[in-house]
Amino acid sequence: MSFFRQLAKRTLTALLPRHAIVSRGAGPGIALTFDDGPHPDHTPRLLDALADAGITATFFIVGERGSEHRSLLQRIAYDGHNIGNHTWSHSEPRETSARQLIDEVRRTRDLIEDITGRECRLFRPPKGELTLRKLLALRQERQTIVLWNHDTKDYRMPVGSDAIIDWCRDYRPWSGDIVLFHDNHPHAVSAVEYFATQRPDLCERCLTVSELVNSSRSGRSVPQSVRGTLCTGS
Ligand SMILES: [Zn+2]
Repeated sequence: MSFFRQLAKRTLTALLPRHAIVSRGAGPGIALTFDDGPHPDHTPRLLDALADAGITATFFIVGERGSEHRSLLQRIAYDGHNIGNHTWSHSEPRETSARQLIDEVRRTRDLIEDITGRECRLFRPPKGELTLRKLLALRQERQTIVLWNHDTKDYRMPVGSDAIIDWCRDYRPWSGDIVLFHDNHPHAVSAVEYFATQRPDLCERCLTVSELVNSSRSGRSVPQSVRGTLCTGS
């Protein structure tokens, strides 16, 4: 990266409001997040498993999949989870202009708000990739960009393997963790079922992303401006 691009990036980051980009929370909780759904088979099973475990989580949905499974979006919201925006078509970041991205974000946001009746400003870019131009455009849309600090890489795990259980067994939660799963694969269900039976302490720490970011349990205050910018989907 050139000196001037680095300088521009640093300047932009300094100018952004606190929590404009979130990859980890401040409080003691952790947030489980599920991308790329809803899926007609895996998402209902995941919702059952989350309810059994007493966990509320965050789903970053793909708009066109949500439009095909509207009742699943209703249930996600009804069960107390956050719904975030993961574009309309999960378009390839490097083949998508800032204007196309914003069109997809608006279309997906409108769908979520139409179905749930709740405002949504949480956005996760496909592959976590953004350019400065897209970041600025998303800020104009008043979107909070949510990344992660733990990637399970569940999308790479063979179906029927115990790889996700191994991951869950080895996972040592730290305060404010944001963990990435995918609910268009079956592994997330196995992970939540494992947590429910083997890691009840972890289940008790799970929050939605908006709760995690707004949490003042750690004693750190959260600016009013941040509270005003977050999704109210929970
Ligand atoms: Zn994705």
